[in-house]
Order: sequence, then C-alpha cells, then structure tokens
Amino acid sequence: MPQSNRSLKGQIALVTGASSGIGRAIALALGASGAAVAVNYKRDCEGAEGTVREIAAKNGDAVAVQADVADERAVEAMFAAVLERFGTLDILVANAGIQRDAPIADMTLADWRAVIDVNLTGQFLCLRAAVRAFRARSRAAPPSRALGKIICVSSVHELIPWAYRANYAASKGGAMLLMKSVAQEVAAEKIRVNSIAPGAIRTRINRAAWETPAAADALLELIPYGRIGEPEDVARAALWLASDDSDYVTGTTIFVDGGMTLYPGFEGEG
Ligand code: NAD
Repeated sequence: MPQSNRSLKGQIALVTGASSGIGRAIALALGASGAAVAVNYKRDCEGAEGTVREIAAKNGDAVAVQADVADERAVEAMFAAVLERFGTLDILVANAGIQRDAPIADMTLADWRAVIDVNLTGQFLCLRAAVRAFRARSRAAPPSRALGKIICVSSVHELIPWAYRANYAASKGGAMLLMKSVAQEVAAEKIRVNSIAPGAIRTRINRAAWETPAAADALLELIPYGRIGEPEDVARAALWLASDDSDYVTGTTIFVDGGMTLYPGFEGEG
C-alpha cells in the first residue's frame, strides 16, 4: 500500500494574487496542510489580511506581502521580505492574473501589455526569484524530497484559442512553454515546476460568465462534467503538486476543468 504524504509541515509557501479567488483558496489549503504562507496582493490589502486571518484561525502561520508581480523591483523586494520573515522558501504558486478583453482590431497596446506583463512577465519574475531562493537553501534537514516546487496557475486557454482575448490566450500559451522550459532546465537540481490549467472557476475574474442563469447555462454547455468549478477544486490539485505525493511529476500541466478541453461540441452521436 503506497504511503500518502500531503503534509507540508515546516515548509514555506508564497502564493501570488492570494487576496481573492483561486489564490486565496490555494493559500488556505497550503496553510491547512502545515505550510507557513506568504499571501501576496497588489492593492487589496483587506482581502490579503482576510486570507491571513483565516489561516491563523486554523492555527496556521501567514503574512501578507504587497507587490505588483509585473514590477521587477517589487518582486525582488517581496522575495527578500519572505526570506527575511521565514528564512527560506519551499513552494511558489504563481497565480496572479488579469484579463483585458477586446476585439483584436480594437485592442490597445495598453490592453495587450497589461495582460502580458502580469500573466507572463509576472510569472517569469517570480519563477526566476524562486529558483534563486531554492538554490540558496541549506539542505541540512529538508522538509521535502524536492529542493523546491513551483506551481504556475495557467488556464485551459494555454490550449484553447479564445476570441476577443488574444492577449490572455497568448499570455497563457507563453506561460505554458515558460513552465516547461524552466522545468527542463532545473529538474536535475530537484526543482519541480508544473502548471494547473483551470477551466471555468467561480471567481470574480469571470463573474459575467456565471452570474446570471442564462450565462451559467451557456457556460455549462462547455463543461461535460456539468458544473462550474470552485476555487477549492483548483486548491486540491495545487496541494498535491506542492506535496511529496507528486514527487515524480515535473514539467506538466494538470487540467482542472470538468472536461472543458474534451471538445464538448463533439459529444453527440453525429
Ligand atoms: P481573481 O481576480 O479573484 O484573482 C486574481 C488575483 O491576482 C487577484 O487577487 C488580483 O489582485 C491579483 N493580481 C492581479 N494583478 C496583480 C499584480 N500585478 N500583482 C499581484 N497580484 C495581482 O481571479 P481568479 O480566477 O482567482 O484568478 C487567479 C488565476 O487563475 C489567474 O491567473 C487566472 O488567469 C487563472 N484562471 C482563472 C480561471 C477562472 O475561471 N476563474 C480560469 C482559468 C485560469
């Protein structure tokens, strides 16, 4: 019988964009499994403090850290603050992301840059800082089989083209090869790098897609499993990827999408 080990006791995690939605749920799951959690936010200090309080209420250790992940200096300062507070880093969850939707002919360079800067460059800056932090670690009593673990929150749109969101799909497609390239580069150092690609998850980023019954019905047409996902669905996958239960898993994307990537338009007999 294989032994399961999802405990993250003694480990330090940083979750970007953890003041709301999927990042918040991941931070709570990691905290409940014993990790000390740095809860990153850009502007929503109150949301981040709420995540910190929820972790503390279950006897966990957490702190809020402000940084815009698209800003190199801010990311460097955030990692320095995490290392100063906790001494090291075991787990990075690069989750922060935005959308700026527009038809391609009307998409401004500002719309394009804003999304690429947060979703792709933000992941690059955080991955780079995490690899540096992992390499600087002393391994006297390692709390995990890996030297470090990186989990990128991608999207089904790393695979599925998305009209009116060319900037978003390009950022997530780019993030997919960023993840795989870094995974290939650092695997020999026992650093694992993976992505989670959520489908339609009930958060504020896609409120318009689930908020009214008509919108929810249209969305469900795209989901063979027949329900909209919850942030906790993604958090459970993140917990597995952060734990030693996934120790032989690197360079892969786990789709948490209720089958959205199964081409549901083809499910009939015709
Ligand atoms: P959300 O809007 O609740 O969360 C996004 C978080 O990122 C927020 O906390 C926001 O403050 C933070 N953020 C934005 N810009 C930032 C910056 N520059 N620096 C630091 N933090 C910043 O929405 P969510 O659904 O929880 O999104 C989380 C991730 O999941 C995103 O990467 C998104 O692309 C991805 N995703 C979501 C869905 C979905 O259906 N909800 C599907 C696929 C992928």
